Amino acid sequence: MNYLFEVHEKRTKRPRDEPEAKIAPQDESEWIAPIALGSADDLFECGYCGGRCHDVIDEYRGRWKVECCFCGLVESKARVEGILPEVFVFPSGRFSGQSIESVASTEKGLRFVRWAAGEHGNIEVREACKKFLDTVIPTS
Ligand SMILES: [Zn+2]
Repeated sequence: MNYLFEVHEKRTKRPRDEPEAKIAPQDESEWIAPIALGSADDLFECGYCGGRCHDVIDEYRGRWKVECCFCGLVESKARVEGILPEVFVFPSGRFSGQSIESVASTEKGLRFVRWAAGEHGNIEVREACKKFLDTVIPTS
């Protein structure tokens, strides 16, 4: 077909300057599943399903992060004394006040825990980290 004006085929725009899409890290070592600190049954009522069985998945500054065993809703609740075994927390330094479980949940933190198990100046920290690595992290 002839047109009065020259018609160019519509070109698709080339994504010349678009940055490459960021891809989530695939290295398995960066994905460590949270370890439940313990269970808290009959202490809280789930805000969604009303269930009364929860896993305590984290503890930070007197509060628990609890997950409903039935529907999976995660809520923050005030810590209840005497439910979980006494959790070792780092007494000082960059991870002061955090449990080993919490620190070891990131790759960087886990490297610190491995280092502390062998090199930390405080023997209590060293022993707690060693115990954690022996019992919680399977040796590969
Ligand atoms: Zn629930």
